[in-house]
Parts: sequence; C-alpha cells; structure tokens
Amino acid sequence: MSGRPEKLYPLFSELETLQGVGPKTAQHFAQIGVESPRDLLFSLPYSVVDRRIRSTLSGCDFPSVVTVEVTIGEHRPARNRGGAYRIQVMDAETDFQLVFFHGRSRYLLAQVPEGSRRVVSGKVELFDGMAQMVHPDHMVPLEEASDIPEFEPVYNLTQGITQKTMFKSVQSALKRTPVLDEWIDPAQLAKKNWRQWQDSVFDAHNPSGLEDLDAHSPSRARLAYDELFAHQLTLALARQMERKTRGTSSKGTGILQALVLAALPYKPTSAQTRAIAEIATDLGSDQRMNRLLQGDVGSGKTLVAFMALLTVVEGSGQGVMMAPTEILGRQHLDGLRPLAEDAGVVLELLTGRDKGAERKAKLAALKRGDIHILVGTHAVFQQDVEFHDLRLAIVDEQHRFGVRQRMELAEKGQGADVLVMTATPIPRSLALAQYGDMDVSVLDEKPPGRKPVKTAVISTERMDEVISHLRRAIAEGRQCYWVCPLVEESEVMDLIAAEERFKRLRAVLGEGVVGLVHGQMPASEKDAAMAAFQAGETSVLVATTVIEVGVNVPNASIMVIERAEIFGLAQLHQLRGRVGRGSAESTCLLMYQAPLKEGGRKRLEVLRETEDGFVISETDLQMRGAGDVIGTAQSGLPRFQIADLERQAGLMAIAQSDARALLATDPKLESPRGQAARVLLWLMRQDQAIRLISVG
Ligand code: ADP
Ligand code: MG
Repeated sequence: MSGRPEKLYPLFSELETLQGVGPKTAQHFAQIGVESPRDLLFSLPYSVVDRRIRSTLSGCDFPSVVTVEVTIGEHRPARNRGGAYRIQVMDAETDFQLVFFHGRSRYLLAQVPEGSRRVVSGKVELFDGMAQMVHPDHMVPLEEASDIPEFEPVYNLTQGITQKTMFKSVQSALKRTPVLDEWIDPAQLAKKNWRQWQDSVFDAHNPSGLEDLDAHSPSRARLAYDELFAHQLTLALARQMERKTRGTSSKGTGILQALVLAALPYKPTSAQTRAIAEIATDLGSDQRMNRLLQGDVGSGKTLVAFMALLTVVEGSGQGVMMAPTEILGRQHLDGLRPLAEDAGVVLELLTGRDKGAERKAKLAALKRGDIHILVGTHAVFQQDVEFHDLRLAIVDEQHRFGVRQRMELAEKGQGADVLVMTATPIPRSLALAQYGDMDVSVLDEKPPGRKPVKTAVISTERMDEVISHLRRAIAEGRQCYWVCPLVEESEVMDLIAAEERFKRLRAVLGEGVVGLVHGQMPASEKDAAMAAFQAGETSVLVATTVIEVGVNVPNASIMVIERAEIFGLAQLHQLRGRVGRGSAESTCLLMYQAPLKEGGRKRLEVLRETEDGFVISETDLQMRGAGDVIGTAQSGLPRFQIADLERQAGLMAIAQSDARALLATDPKLESPRGQAARVLLWLMRQDQAIRLISVG
C-alpha cells in the first residue's frame, strides 16, 4: 500500500466539505491546527452541559443551564435601540423571561409566536428577582426536542468558532466516519471492554454524562490506546529496521573484563552485573544493539559502559564513548585510563581542542586500530574521524536524543551497536514514549555505602550564616560546590553572577581556597579549575551548571545551590547527586530568594523529602506535563492529542508490547490485522512509519 487508503479519504478531505463549514470557519479552524475532518474527530470535548429536559425551573439553583418545555407568552419589544426584547414564558409551574438584545420582532414573532409550545435551553440567571434566560442556546418546537443532545459536549474553541459550529462540524464529520478493520488484538479489546473504533469515536463525542469524559472511560481509553499504539508501532518499525541494518557480532572472551574487575577496589552491584550481561548478549548477537541504560546519578553507569567497550575490544573491535561536555570527556579519560592500562587497552581522548599534528596522529592511530577505545565530545563523530573496526558507540547523553538523531548516530557509527546512557531517570511512560524503539537496562540499585545527603531549604537572607558554617567545614577538610544560576549579572532576572559570588567567597574564605568554573571560560582555565578542585587544592568550587552532569569528586560533601527555586527538579537532583559520593556525611543547601512561589516551594519540598530519582521524575511529570519534562521539540516525542501520559502510563506499556508482538509475527504488516494497523498509521499521520515499512 503506497498511498492513503481510500476508506480514509472522507476524513482527510477539506473541512469545507463538511456541513456548515465555510471558508471563514475553515480558516479559523486552521489556526488551531484543525485542517481536516480527521482532526475534528481527534479534538475531544473537555466537558459536558446537562441539557436533559425538566418540567420546570422552579427549585433550580441559579445561575445554571436549564432545558425546559414552555408556552410562549407576551412579546415585549425593546423600548429603545439596544434595549432588551423580552418574551414572557411559562413552564409547568412558573414563569420567566427569554431576553434578546438587538432582538428583531419580525424574526422572533415568526420563531416563537405567542401561544406556541417550545423547548428552550440556556443559562438561567436571576435579575432583579426575575428568572431570565438571555439568548437561549436552543429554542425548538417540541417535535425537534430530540435534536438537543441530553449531554452536550463542550469543546476547546478558538476565535471565530462557537460551540454550536464546533458541535455541528464534529457531528457532520462523525457522519462520514467509516468502520475500520480492527487493529487491536481481539483478546485485548475484549479484556478492556472496548468498542470498535468508529463506535468509540462516536461515543467520545456523544458523552452521556461527565464520567464519559474521564480518561479511563472505555471510548477515551481506546482512542488513547490507538494513539499510543500507532506511536509504538512507529518506534517498533524503526527498531526493526535498525536491528536488521547490519549485524556485527562481538563475542567477548572475558579476559580483559576479568583483568579490570580484579583491579577494581569494589565489586559491581548486581544491577551493574545484570546490565553488563544484557549488553554482552546484545553485542554477541548479530542483530544491531539499540539499548538504553537508565540509572540514577551515581548508580555506576560508567563501569557498565566500560565493560561493554572491553567486550568489543576482546573481540578485536573498537568502541567510542561520547560525553556531552569537555569536562566529562576528560573525566572519563582520567577515570578509565588507569583501568585500561591494567588490561593493556589503549584509550584516547578526542575533543574539539585537538588540532594539527597531534590530532592527525590520533586519527591515524584510530584508523590503524591502534587506539581501542576513543572517548570525547561530539568531535568523535566528525567527518574525518575514521575507525578501523568500530563496533560500539556509547552516548553519555545530556541533551536527550530523539529517534531520528539516534538513527543518524547509528549511521555515523557505520552500523555499530548503540548504547545510550541517560543522565536522569525518567518516568516509565515517558521512557517508553521516547525510547520505545530501544531495549532498556535499568540500574535500580546504588553502590553500597552511600550515605543519604542531608538536604535543607534556606532563605538567601541567611547567607552570612551559611558562609560561616562553610568556613568551619573547610577547616575540617571538606570540599564544597557552590552553584549559581547565571554567568553574568542580569538586571532583569536579578540573578547572582558566579563571578560576584566567587569574589565574595574568596574575600571571606581566603585567596586560593576558592575556584571558579563557568561555561564561558576558556577551556584550559576550566580544566585547571576542575583539576585543582579534584586534587583538593581548592576547597570551594563556584560554578554554573557546567558541573551538572556526571562530575565525580568523592571528597566534595557540600552542595550549595543559589536560587534553587528557579531550577528544574531534574536539574536539582543532578546537582545534588554530585555529593554523597564519598564516606563523609553530605549536605545540600537549597537557597531560595523569598517570597517563594507555589511551584518552587513544592519542588524544593520534594527534594528535601526524597533522593529517589524515579520518584522525583514522576513528580516532575505530574507538575509539568510530559512535553516540558522531556522538551518535545528536541526529543521527537509527539504531542499526543488524546492520550495523557501522566494518567495513562499503563496503556503505553501495553501499546509497546502489543506493537512489538504484532511485528514479531507480521514484520511487514501483511496479515489482516497488519493491514488494519497500516490504516491506523495513516489515520494517525505517521507517514514516517509507512516509509519504514516500504524500506523493509
Ligand atoms: P553515574 O551512573 O552517575 O555515571 P558513575 O559511573 O560516575 O555514576 O559512578 C559513581 C561513582 O561510583 C564512581 O566513583 C564509581 O567509581 C563508583 N562506583 C561505581 N560502581 C561501584 C560499585 N559497584 N561499588 C562501589 N562504587 C562504585
Ligand atoms: Mg555518568
């Protein structure tokens, strides 16, 4: 199937083909991204108005929407222009008024002549003790009463579109909604009590009460599932393609790993051992690995990565590990090189700073295969960087990669196996949404002996106290990170510049005790400042968030974060993770500037209460929503129209396993259910996925 299925044509035609939609309305719809009847179907109501007919409005609390049968009484046209035209009406028990501003007699007398019976529906309010319905929403003869929906859906609107227009357009779109073959596994459908697609769309737009708007109502849940299933199918197709692209199989001998493990001062945790084994299995198979290693700060991802690299080196291949920053690349080098040397493995660093002859020599050695493992920044994927036999590419990521970037990386990696390490734990539903094409290993256990970090929330007004405490701590040989939000003083934001803080702390604590590192410093100065801190020459390191990801100085046991209220939860968690790595008790001081807003206060409280990165990320998701947690634009995470990742996390997992199961039995989507799933992909505008099938 190369083009859109014919059955879907009516849903993808112009909006103007719908009843009551003219060019103007279509333009207004376009402003909210509604361009076809299909888009209308996926714009679900967010509320309902109860328009069940009652016999009288007596006994109602006002204001409220009332639908009632009335006898039309006397018309009282406005006495002056712009005045109110009033019509007296009588229901079973009481009388009230219909009110029209700019009402025209001729029209109203024709619509609702005195003595006629009508059903009217609208908001009733008390005005001067008199109940009145201003501009009724509905006003129909009794025989048309059934045209008024008992529960009228309420939609999000845009300028120029009224509820009435929206309702009519949607109903018109529903009329042309086809029955589609089922793409959901019949067992799943039965288990959840879901109806077929067309019925579900119909139900979602014709709620019979507020409970039908709940994310867990059958029609909504099914439509959400469809959306997630289409997304997971796309990821599963990407995965299928990635995996079959090329198969190198790197079987390790275990010799190098054994040498390194013997030299380590500690034993791997069981989570590390498990992850190492999962990766080794992938490396050994001839399908390309595409794996995510998720683990909280300090869970020991580096060792796992290194073991994977050794596996490919044992199989006489090469590996590369990319770090997000220069500092981290260097730290990997410093941490891993001694271990590599123990095992006779050659490890080199390549960053943007390598120039000229030295760089040339490195590249030549790499091409000859004399360098076994290359660590570095983005520079490792520059065009002229060639490997002798690259088998494994590891990305220690800071900015999260989307599916597309991962595919690009795999291409640059010349078909190598890919391992992505996340710096921050993310909730399971998001991990599935964003990394659904990958297999996942989780380090859910921290190395033993870690002491909890004491976290305190303090106002900046107590700065002097903090500094005098710090002076004592330094005298005891402790080290401290001091994080400031911005590099330069910004008058608008009133943020404290790192340089200002640096000067003040130096003045109080003494020359030579305080170091400074920030993003705009020349690289060599950055290195020098980091090295001095790592060596214990400086006791305090004033920094901007460049230290956020991955820096490891076990002796540092104090973390001060200024203006903590403006940082995100994930970022604060990362920063705090820099301490608590050694044997000493660690402290984290979250300093805020009063007054603290609700969101900021809640974030700081969560941090004070828990150190569990997964709990923190779940809270983050609840507070901010999916798009913000991941950053939709850069992640390639789609904006789901119906599915709610916070509340429908369970569905995402089901959708993933269903999508993978379908492809396992029907990799080209040729079976009846496979064909139906193709229609779903078209319906969900997943053109990218459809291309993946044609490639396959
Ligand atoms: P992250 O997962 O944040 O990248 P690292 O790999 O930097 O964590 O490890 C954090 C620290 O824990 C390092 O100092 C590392 O040497 C140490 N470490 C790693 N694994 C273990 C272990 N199994 N037992 C004790 N310490 C470990
Ligand atoms: Mg790390």
